[in-house]
Amino acid sequence: MARLIDSGPGCPTPTPLRGPNAAEARGLVYDDAVRAETDHLYPLVQDFVTPMEWPAIAPLVAAINRLKAEKNAVILAHNYMTPDIFRLVGDFRGDSLQLAREAAAVDADIIVQAGVHFMAETSKILAPQKTVLIPDMRAGCSLADSITAADVRLIKQKFPDYPIVTYVNTSADVKAECHITCTSSNAAQVVEAIAKEWNSDTVILVPDQYLAKNVAAQTKIRVMTWPGSCEVHEMFTADDVEALREAHPGVVILAHPECPPDVLEAADFAGSTSALANYVAEKHPHKVVLLTECSMSDNVAAENPGTNFIRPCNLCPHMKRITLENIYDCLVKGEYEVTIPEDVRVRAKKAIDAMLALPRMEKPLAFETGLKPLELEMVV
Ligand code: SF4
Repeated sequence: MARLIDSGPGCPTPTPLRGPNAAEARGLVYDDAVRAETDHLYPLVQDFVTPMEWPAIAPLVAAINRLKAEKNAVILAHNYMTPDIFRLVGDFRGDSLQLAREAAAVDADIIVQAGVHFMAETSKILAPQKTVLIPDMRAGCSLADSITAADVRLIKQKFPDYPIVTYVNTSADVKAECHITCTSSNAAQVVEAIAKEWNSDTVILVPDQYLAKNVAAQTKIRVMTWPGSCEVHEMFTADDVEALREAHPGVVILAHPECPPDVLEAADFAGSTSALANYVAEKHPHKVVLLTECSMSDNVAAENPGTNFIRPCNLCPHMKRITLENIYDCLVKGEYEVTIPEDVRVRAKKAIDAMLALPRMEKPLAFETGLKPLELEMVV
């Protein structure tokens, strides 16, 4: 069962604990110069950062923004970053595919990935000439860790006639062994396109069993999968959905497709983080809940003041390793650099390019809700 914050609409999720002297310990003080540089930024986070906390944050924000200009660096901030990172220092914001595309296109010498390790690798795959830094090398992912390149080689031996699609939440090594990548915005499109290309009625989609089951419900293609899961999204249950509807009559429930299929069955709408954000921006629901990582609701709420957000609090411990403090340290010290052996990078890029070569969709695909969950054959 997900832990639900029962503090009423509009209450933000907890921000990471920050020592009062996090900035001072780095020789940064809240002086007149910092006030002048940051006063206009406070309204962007006033729902999440108290006036008492601001003097500990503002010097870090000012210093990070100065360092970015000095070093020709940009920060790619994933939707699951806390609002202080997402709104105050992120230059590009969005889901992993949007960020990877920005990484390839941006005119910068340094990319700081405010996200997890596989995202930094994806940036490096698409922008090999740029230095890609991640503020904490331990920012991993339960999905990416669930499968290795050796596992994929065994799958290929066992099922040589079926194309293998990998969700982008995997290491570069794994991508290098797969035929094409997908995101939660385009997974059904990719499965159908690769099935057609291979003239196959079956596609293997790894490593997220729940994404695979949710995709299989949307297509006539037979999908086989791998027993990986996101430790954040798998905590949501259909009982949570029922409890939310009872506690908050009229609430609109949006779910990410990494949630188990019975959650999507019970939800009102499902899609990638971009699709969820678009839904709120376009439909303006009065009261909404986003069944996804905690900080996403804060970031969408900040853009949609007319909507009340009920906030389930499932934090991703890997995403939460990224903080303003270690972003500052990362820019000062130039660490930690993400590198990929060139042969692996080239093969991984082929899998990403195969996805990017598909017709670009105007909007991320929504997943139909209300469908009966399917059981899929595992490739292990
Ligand atoms: S939210 Fe889930 S899929 Fe995303 S980084 Fe965390 S563990 Fe991985």
